[in-house]
Amino acid sequence: MGSKASRPQVTPPSKAWGKTKLLMGEGKVVEWFMYKGDVLQLVRRLAKHLIETGVAEGIVSGVSKEGKVSLHIARSAVEVDESPLDHVLLHGYRGLESTVRAARERKKEKLAVLVKPCEARAIVELAKRRQVDLNLAFIIGFDCPGIRANSDAGDELKEAMSAAPSGELLRDACRRCEVHAPPHADVYISLLASPEILLVGAKTEKGTRVVESLRKDGVLSDRPPQELLLGREKKLKLLDEKGRETLREEEGKLLSTPNNERLSWFMGQLNSCTRCSACIRACPLCFCKDCVLIAERKKYSPSLFLVTRMLHMADACVCCGKCDEVCPKSIPLSYMFYHLGRRFTSRHSYLSGVDFSKPPRIV
Ligand code: SF4
Ligand code: SF4
Ligand code: SF4
Repeated sequence: MGSKASRPQVTPPSKAWGKTKLLMGEGKVVEWFMYKGDVLQLVRRLAKHLIETGVAEGIVSGVSKEGKVSLHIARSAVEVDESPLDHVLLHGYRGLESTVRAARERKKEKLAVLVKPCEARAIVELAKRRQVDLNLAFIIGFDCPGIRANSDAGDELKEAMSAAPSGELLRDACRRCEVHAPPHADVYISLLASPEILLVGAKTEKGTRVVESLRKDGVLSDRPPQELLLGREKKLKLLDEKGRETLREEEGKLLSTPNNERLSWFMGQLNSCTRCSACIRACPLCFCKDCVLIAERKKYSPSLFLVTRMLHMADACVCCGKCDEVCPKSIPLSYMFYHLGRRFTSRHSYLSGVDFSKPPRIV
């Protein structure tokens, strides 16, 4: 590593993480309503409504076979009832092929997807890169307090969606998550304010039509009391701030480590990569059909392979952690990719996946 004088200027952590602001979605939900019941029941009802009314041809879900869940699109009420949508709600599309990949590759189909905020951010980045047609996709977004590191742990859905798993149980990428509400969705669902009362709102025109119709059918009840909405806002603020605090701490620790130690740790991680490309296939933002890194991976050294990928992702990584989950070498990929990305994007006042009006900074 170069001398101190030649090192690139470091953005103070407080500037990078201090005042991240959502530039869209904030306070723009048209109206909130309440649903007093089971979240899975509501999601199934909503999915069936979308299919029956032709708003969507299907909902991206999974099928369970011998304990494994793989991608499936539920296209009828029966299939919706049989789909393990609770798995998707608990873990995101972990264990399935990426939701956004499915929406992207079936560009001509009207599909509904259930997304956590990091997945909604990925969809925003993909839409900006013309990889997802938002006119066709129907996005059902959920506030997310964070998910468990152990995907096999049985969780009560409503508890898992209303409070973060404690301490060590929280997934690594979720510790540094700074966006716990979907920046974009057609319909929003939140259990943050109360595990017993679901808040349901819409922002887009098609989302508003769906919510209105569910209200007319008596599925959704009246507007929630103000304290529930304030309770949600307060929780979101705390969760976002906690994520930024983790980012600040991690960055502070990294920058206070002597250069030679930092470099040797970094190179150790890079060199342990087997170039299996599982992280590329799992990443919702890796959308090139003919990925040169996959095709020619054996021509790259492990470090060049990973550094090239990191540079490609510098303005796009949304810290979803899907790469962490598949890496056979347990390389802390979301930690490395997101920190590198945020150091780059904070210089451009850019936060990936939250603002349609800001074009990508690299492609
Ligand atoms: S990174 Fe974790 S906490 Fe953040 S939205 Fe995704 S799953 Fe939820
Ligand atoms: S690099 Fe990893 S953390 Fe970043 S978007 Fe891709 S899969 Fe998610
Ligand atoms: S999943 Fe891990 S080992 Fe495989 S290519 Fe990605 S970083 Fe390398």
